[in-house]
Amino acid sequence: MITKRNLVFLGAPGAGKGTIAQILSEKEGLVHISTGDIFRNEIKNETELGKKARHYVTTGGLVPDDLVAEMVASRLAEGDCATGFILDGFPRTLPQADLFETALEKIGRKIDLVVLFNAGEELLLKRLTARIICKQCGSNFNKIFMPPEKEGICDKCGGELYQRTDDSLETAKERLEIYNKQTAPLVGYYKEKGLLAEVDGSLGKDSTTPLVMEVVS
Ligand SMILES: [Zn+2]
Repeated sequence: MITKRNLVFLGAPGAGKGTIAQILSEKEGLVHISTGDIFRNEIKNETELGKKARHYVTTGGLVPDDLVAEMVASRLAEGDCATGFILDGFPRTLPQADLFETALEKIGRKIDLVVLFNAGEELLLKRLTARIICKQCGSNFNKIFMPPEKEGICDKCGGELYQRTDDSLETAKERLEIYNKQTAPLVGYYKEKGLLAEVDGSLGKDSTTPLVMEVVS
């Protein structure tokens, strides 16, 4: 049983956060939370926050930081998160991190640990451009990090796998640039708070998972 159960996974796109979050959440009964899922649910369930968020989403604007932070905190206040959660890809900016801390205080929760996944840029680009998706069920695979059992075929439904055009090298470089500019400052932010643990995200899931288990134990 792990002792640190309220977790934030931090790291560049392609560093393996999502994959490890999925493994760890299944293993330890933590709720794996991405902001995309929260948006979709709140909007679908027509909550007060969802209605506000819909306004921004439908007009093509970015959902403001305070609203995102509130939506995440409200999700964490739900019963299934009581024994632990993994936030995957949030907070994304310093203002979000500050607002989120305040929102967490309001619901009497706190972050136990922020796990930073380190990986070199060359590898990140390689992984980001190796993503393949099932035409039929939308499952994600990765030619390098999470290859399907049979090449070109979805493990889950047998559908055909394809590469999205926006997984081009150019898009991958842009995503890394945005990460370095907006999200990387969170490393220093959480280090200062004594909440940061670093793991090598370059090793692949079988080697990185035990490293994560160690820091959250
Ligand atoms: Zn499929």
